Amino acid sequence: MDQVGLVKRQFGHRARLALSPAQAAVLDGQAHTARTAWNLLHEWWQLCRRDQRTLAAADAVIRQARKEMDWLGQLPAQAAQAVLKTYFQAWKNCWEGRAEAPEFKARFRTPLALDIPQGRDLQVVRVHRRWGMVNIPKLGRVKFRWTKDLPVGRRADKDNRITGARLVKDALGWHIAFRISVLEPAPAPHTGPEVGIDAGITIPLALSDGTDFHHEPWLTEKEQARLLELERRAAHQKSCRTPGEPTSRRLQHTYDQIAGLRAKAKRRHLDWQHQTTTTIAKTYGTVVVEQLPITNMVKSAKGTVDHPGTGVAQKSGLNRVIHAEAWGRTTGFLEYKTRRHGGSLHKVPAPGTSQRCHACKTITPGSRESQATFVCKNEACGWSGNADTNAARNVLADYRAGHALAPAAGRCSRQTRKRAKPPTAR
Ligand SMILES: [Zn+2]
Repeated sequence: MDQVGLVKRQFGHRARLALSPAQAAVLDGQAHTARTAWNLLHEWWQLCRRDQRTLAAADAVIRQARKEMDWLGQLPAQAAQAVLKTYFQAWKNCWEGRAEAPEFKARFRTPLALDIPQGRDLQVVRVHRRWGMVNIPKLGRVKFRWTKDLPVGRRADKDNRITGARLVKDALGWHIAFRISVLEPAPAPHTGPEVGIDAGITIPLALSDGTDFHHEPWLTEKEQARLLELERRAAHQKSCRTPGEPTSRRLQHTYDQIAGLRAKAKRRHLDWQHQTTTTIAKTYGTVVVEQLPITNMVKSAKGTVDHPGTGVAQKSGLNRVIHAEAWGRTTGFLEYKTRRHGGSLHKVPAPGTSQRCHACKTITPGSRESQATFVCKNEACGWSGNADTNAARNVLADYRAGHALAPAAGRCSRQTRKRAKPPTAR
């Protein structure tokens, strides 16, 4: 690097787009086309001979399809290329153990999204204290809320610029997520203490020094009651529908309201994750987390024949997925935030961290009493305390004993994949 003491930092920034209903409909259409292009690629891949599955061959397939099918043409060429790249990356992620194999994208379950891979296509300018303008291919100039100083205009150069963007639709409408790359002064090495973290079920985040991070339920009691009512209403409206008929406007409205409440919960969850991970990254120099084995987590929730777990349904179903996703995000946030504050994040394989006693380092049968409390049944020890704190201390001890997975490679190890499905699928 030619400039000493400067480091490149890449980050994202999300802003809400101010679209007219007609413009939103255009983006909806493009996103569905991108999804279909993905499905087309996936079909091709499955029919293709192994040695013919090359990027060049796939590119030819997409080009040919764009010529033959008019509707594919509504997708900007760059966005089509981005689908191709994402598809191949998805296989790479799968082979390296970071994600499951790519699948077909269903119309209703797939979040709508579109890539604008080239930053220069965006031509972002600030037009007002609170508004910016961005160019969206095949749509034109669109206003977005300006809430962060972006490197545009005179402030942009080859080291400080917007490198691309992704358009994403959620219950609150279309957003733009900018990818930004800047050069900034390197942080001084963090001299803070070492800490182990456990993602518990009773405590969202338990730290080895005894600190706990709690949160209120993401929806208030009133909102939860409303969600339940809406879900019942949707089920009823769905049952009244004649098979084969398109979704009624009333049912669609109910779905939208449900999605709105869920988006609200997710936004609060994200806020909390950002706050806690920032606090952790500022306080501790070395942060150690467990590489969460999802399969083990389900097992522990189900308990054994002799000691069945409680609330199995909640723990092993939807909650498990949310839990794994949340943990993936937390470690992702910690990874870049610790680096930004001069610290580091390390991952250790998880086996035994919740069954082992951190004080005497043994796994004694029957030691864990419940989800919340750990009581060591080793007569010489007898430590008891919070089960999640115990696990967090084991995580730290494993790191100190040199069991940390190599950075990044930890996520790619095939051994880890066999043992557990890593939670991050991005
Ligand atoms: Zn013990």
